[in-house]
Amino acid sequence: LEEGARACLLRFRQRLEQDIKPSYLMDHMISDGVMTGDEEERIRTQDQAAALLELLLGKGNCAYISFYNALIREAYDDLANLLHADLPQVLSDAHKSSSDGSTSYVQAVLSEGGVPQRPVVFVSRPELVNQIREKLYHLQKESGWVTIFGMAGSGKSVLAAEAVRNHGLIEECFPGGIHWLSIGQLEKPDLLVKIQSLCFRLEQSLDSQSFHRTPNSLDEAKERLRFLMLRRYPRSLLILDDIWDSTVLKVFDIQCRILLTTRNRSLTDSVSGMCSVLSSFLLLGLDDKKGLEILALYTNTKPQGLPEEARSIVRECKGSPLVVSLIGALLKEKPNRWRYYLIQLQQKQFKRIRKSSSYDYDALDQAMAASIEVLPEEHQELYKDLTVLEKDVKIPAKVLSILWDLELEDVEDILEEFANKSLLFVDSHSKPYLYYLHDLQLDFLVEQNRTQLESLHAKVVHQYQHFYRDGPPTSGDEECFYWIRFLTYHMAKANLSKELYSLMFSLDWVSIKAQIMGPAPLINDYVEYGPILDEENSEVRSQFQEFLSLNGHQLEQRPFPDVVQLALSQPYASEVYRQALQQAQERASTG
Ligand code: ADP
Repeated sequence: LEEGARACLLRFRQRLEQDIKPSYLMDHMISDGVMTGDEEERIRTQDQAAALLELLLGKGNCAYISFYNALIREAYDDLANLLHADLPQVLSDAHKSSSDGSTSYVQAVLSEGGVPQRPVVFVSRPELVNQIREKLYHLQKESGWVTIFGMAGSGKSVLAAEAVRNHGLIEECFPGGIHWLSIGQLEKPDLLVKIQSLCFRLEQSLDSQSFHRTPNSLDEAKERLRFLMLRRYPRSLLILDDIWDSTVLKVFDIQCRILLTTRNRSLTDSVSGMCSVLSSFLLLGLDDKKGLEILALYTNTKPQGLPEEARSIVRECKGSPLVVSLIGALLKEKPNRWRYYLIQLQQKQFKRIRKSSSYDYDALDQAMAASIEVLPEEHQELYKDLTVLEKDVKIPAKVLSILWDLELEDVEDILEEFANKSLLFVDSHSKPYLYYLHDLQLDFLVEQNRTQLESLHAKVVHQYQHFYRDGPPTSGDEECFYWIRFLTYHMAKANLSKELYSLMFSLDWVSIKAQIMGPAPLINDYVEYGPILDEENSEVRSQFQEFLSLNGHQLEQRPFPDVVQLALSQPYASEVYRQALQQAQERASTG
């Protein structure tokens, strides 16, 4: 640590120890890579503020800068002020370039602007970074917005920081600097505080001695920021990390250059009204290779040397950088637990997979919960209903219009809202559109609504029964397909055994399901729900099953055979025969 910085820490030690809340600051410092989880743990067991300062004194310049940035981010402006004069000069051998275009000039600009450093373990995503840089170059001559959209933990912030870590880009497009502002989910007063501290930071970096009144309302803050960005920091980039809603965005509608990250795709629409230059990116998970690279880095092995569970872990969490990193960090401590963590992941015991870096939320489940909480209450309830969907099954809006008892158009609007918040995915290649959840989202919902699973499934069955009072749908479209395929599943999960018997011990149902889906899924139902059916009548169950096995090939024929005719060749004692006979007689009597 530089002498001046050291002296400064010592001088203000008492004041700092009194005022700071170390846990938040440490989060930032860990994410800047200047502090380890172990060090954090150790500090937690002592007088935290004192221990943190002690640690800082033993560390280098980067730690000091990171601590300074953390103070700013946590709105300790007066304390940051004390440290500012002695910020180590990292500008010295400015233009010495390293391979990735990051020089100490770049480092200095980024740390001055509070841009987070790379996570300790980091893999590059060059195509994405280049695409974003290319769009940022469009902001060279005019103001505009670039937005990165994706699920919680998909690596948006890391990517945004990476995109600007480039000498050429900063020099050519943003010589005025890069200013990072973490927004997150917040209320208006908090937003005001954030902007106040941004203005403060911007004013402080100017040499001028002039002192400004702190803006006291959002409008005032907006004007102040507009002035600073336009007059004092022309050609600079403002990075707004993790914006949740459009009212926040409006405050930044000040004709400057902005890079924005969000989980809420519909924000893009609000932005488009504000500027002419707008580009947006959707961020998906890592591919296998990158995911494995992260695990290899954490565990200090070569990707080829990873155990077979590694690939399953990456696949299981669909390449989520957040989850892969969380597990990587755990494996670093306990390298023998590959299988154990894979199973935990499969069994969705997220709670044990705790945070190991300064991610804003303790674990993925909290990130999900936060996304859900911002939905209007009635939509939260509707989202909960999705808990009962099977993994990897895509459904049309019509199914939900029955489940929710809403008009199709309303359902489509709601689903669009969910999709915009990354809470749901849309397969727009099919007509009608099909909707589905990410595996992790379903796991999360199941975990959260564990005690209500039965009643949620029961709701599906009851809504179906209400809507299809006069008999099952037979149209053969996606919606009909869903009910015919999954009705039995919902009944079984809802513990509605009576409903399940009466459906599966009915020749009509057998005939409809076989016609729409072929005999295999039907036979499968009898096997899967055999134990439940047998409680009512194991003989009838085996009679139906036998009928299906014997006539399987016939039931695959098209045109579809007359099931009553087929069933009449069953033994007289069989329930299948009894129902067929009854239907034949009815047919005869009605002519
Ligand atoms: P988001 O902003 O989309 O919520 P972040 O960018 O904060 O996601 O990333 C979440 C976590 O995922 C990071 O804390 C880090 O551990 C991990 N991560 C993201 N991108 C990378 C990467 N390129 N290499 C290694 N880890 C990454």
